[in-house]
Amino acid sequence: MNCIDCNRPSTQFHPYMLCTYCWTERYSTQLVGGVHIPFKVLLKEVLKRKDLWYKEGESVEEWYDRCAKWGKKGYETTIGKVKGQETTAMGKGLPDN
Ligand SMILES: [Zn+2]
Repeated sequence: MNCIDCNRPSTQFHPYMLCTYCWTERYSTQLVGGVHIPFKVLLKEVLKRKDLWYKEGESVEEWYDRCAKWGKKGYETTIGKVKGQETTAMGKGLPDN
């Protein structure tokens, strides 16, 4: 069975035969402050607020690299906190499980 919009293999069967991409385009929302916002609208707003939205004249590769650097920086910050034994609600460092 294939997606009724793009003819790729369907992964969603309700309310129509759709692929994941097309189902997401039509129905995926996030509930923010009691309002359902299409996820792409919300994602764009979040990226804009972090100055990570696409900039005029920027290539897709440059945009990707800028976002990847931002993500890597956040990851390194988190790892730095673990190595530095940042105090957590569970005590020093991360809990052992
Ligand atoms: Zn589709």
